Amino acid sequence: MQVDVNATSGPLSPGRILAVLRRDGPMTRHELQARVGLSRATMVERLDALSRLKLLRTAGRQASSGGRPAELLTADEAGRCALVADIGVSHLAVAVADLTATVLAVRREKVPARQEPAAVLERVLAIGAELLAETGRAEDFCVLAAGIPGQVDPTSGANTAPPSMPGWSGTAVHDAIAARVRVPVVVENDANALAFGEHLADGAPATTMLGVKVGTGIGSGVVINGRPYRGVTGSVGEIGHIKLAGHEERCACGRTGCLAAVASGRALLRLLRPSGVRTLADVVRQVDQGRQEAITAVTEAGRQLGGVLATVVSIVNPQHLRLGGPIGTLPRFADAVRTAVLDQAHPVALLGLREITPARLGDQAPLIGLAGLAADAVFDPSTVDAQLAADTA
Ligand SMILES: [Zn+2]
Repeated sequence: MQVDVNATSGPLSPGRILAVLRRDGPMTRHELQARVGLSRATMVERLDALSRLKLLRTAGRQASSGGRPAELLTADEAGRCALVADIGVSHLAVAVADLTATVLAVRREKVPARQEPAAVLERVLAIGAELLAETGRAEDFCVLAAGIPGQVDPTSGANTAPPSMPGWSGTAVHDAIAARVRVPVVVENDANALAFGEHLADGAPATTMLGVKVGTGIGSGVVINGRPYRGVTGSVGEIGHIKLAGHEERCACGRTGCLAAVASGRALLRLLRPSGVRTLADVVRQVDQGRQEAITAVTEAGRQLGGVLATVVSIVNPQHLRLGGPIGTLPRFADAVRTAVLDQAHPVALLGLREITPARLGDQAPLIGLAGLAADAVFDPSTVDAQLAADTA
């Protein structure tokens, strides 16, 4: 959370005090008071209010050479938790995570083809309730974040789902969840969540990260200087339906020659059907077993994706390019992507690109990214202040 303490005139609101503690804490009351410039009485009152919301905790005492050591205060990220759901075309992962973005429990299952949102979201909430009970964290549950394929408009929150997920567009996802839970709901593009999770895994505050998810479809997400960049309509990174010259393969979107029709998991399923492949797990298994048809198909898919990513790398100029999803994390696929990007991207952009690798967090990357975004939503100063106002009304 980037909060400019100097940007406000007048005293800092409780939400902004908490943001200072979250960014720079733990610190003593005295240090905090010096930082935010409030009278002792006002400060005590604001900290009490934040404690009532269970957003503040003590973190031990400051080392001291004499006298009673002062208590340290910090934002209570570990004390509250989120349900996060990474929803794909064919798979679903639900997790309980605390607001330090640590996953406490996770469960995965298949989603039947073309399942309606209501049925999938019902499963998310049922699994979520079980995981909260198993982890003993039901009382700490304070936010739900869902990652879905397709664009999510940053202003309206409405999303545009891929054609293989009919009924998932508009505000259906957000509204269906919000109707069933009493906590804030965050909906995010799954590749943005992946990129943000990889950014958090690195622990560096201001990296620029390109995250690419290759599962049934293809999507990418961009984190610029540590923050997700979504663009005007939320379509940043939607590379799956870029038309490739010289290709006429039919795509799930109804057009022909899209990158997704050539290099996605769905394209590999079609190509490898004669070899007995029926699922993405079959593709992974055949590559691991050294089956030549599968290796050739996966390598060519990686090469095609790398050609498009060379352009993206030249424009975004990231430090890291991480590949997620069951196909993206295949080392052979990542190797082919790397070769094509190094061959085709602008040389100066490549100077800053430290690596092209499978996601560090593997299949947990989107879940951890969603937990981080959920935490940012909970600790957003205006949300905290609104909650306090409602609490005292
Ligand atoms: Zn398409």
